[in-house]
Amino acid sequence: MDKKTTKAVGIDIGGTSIKMGLVAERGEVLATSKVSTGALDSDGAFAKVCEGVHALAEQGGIDAGKLDAIGLDVPGVVLEDGTLTMAPNITLDLAGLTTTLREAYPQASLAVLNDANAAALGEAWLGSGNARGGTVMVTLGTGVGAGVVIGGNVIAGAHGAAGEIGHLNVEPEETETCNCGCRGCLEQYASARGLIRLYREECEADGAEPVAIAHATDALAVFEAARGGNTQAVRACERLGHYLARALAAVAVTVDPDAFVVGGGMSGGWDTFGRACLAHYREVAVSACKDTPIRPASLGNDAGFLGAARRALLSL
Ligand SMILES: [Zn+2]
Repeated sequence: MDKKTTKAVGIDIGGTSIKMGLVAERGEVLATSKVSTGALDSDGAFAKVCEGVHALAEQGGIDAGKLDAIGLDVPGVVLEDGTLTMAPNITLDLAGLTTTLREAYPQASLAVLNDANAAALGEAWLGSGNARGGTVMVTLGTGVGAGVVIGGNVIAGAHGAAGEIGHLNVEPEETETCNCGCRGCLEQYASARGLIRLYREECEADGAEPVAIAHATDALAVFEAARGGNTQAVRACERLGHYLARALAAVAVTVDPDAFVVGGGMSGGWDTFGRACLAHYREVAVSACKDTPIRPASLGNDAGFLGAARRALLSL
């Protein structure tokens, strides 16, 4: 490879593992690795991350001392100045880790961002989004959020809350309260728990026996039932699609992206709710935005490190 090609390492920090990738400026992935992690709050743990970066660079045939940029994405709210304000699912001393990385790789530009935003940036750059324009990637999982990418860069917002669309109101008639204290939030229908609740409601309305659901977030059981033609599961998935469409229509008139991407663990059920989502979106979206594509994510777990690397490369 041309020695002048700019290269970055993207480091995607999750609750139980770190996925890293060495990425060249046009998006070629030169090497990847995955390491399991415990708490990231000691010099020993930080040293392990640096060892990982070194090994990755070596694997990709370059000297880690010549890396141009390092991007780090974390499961928490990252403010514009790189401060981590809320990370309930991980023990992480972000200031300590970034200090260690800066000392180990003083030549490299360092960027830090939220994991949902990194995934959105990755999908916008190399996946189902739109590389040059605007992409909103909605992540459906245990929670619901979104990453907003405009003009190729991610919008974190003044309080790091840009894209928190899990708490957009999509059902004014709701009587149950969301975790946030409001009623009728998208997350109450489009999260794993939300879909299971919709399914149970449908079963109750029909007096039908629900299929076995292994745990509180076992949305897969509902998707499987819908694929098998279970009437109540089919209706629950369609309702999820409708609620998602309402939220996307509201986002469309706010940021008017070129593309919507649906990712997260629940996007594996796109075949059960995607058609209903698309059809209802066309009904409720303002006419100028009716043809905005809505596509399932395509990069899987690689979206995070790719987006982190992209953010770091953009900061050069
Ligand atoms: Zn809420």
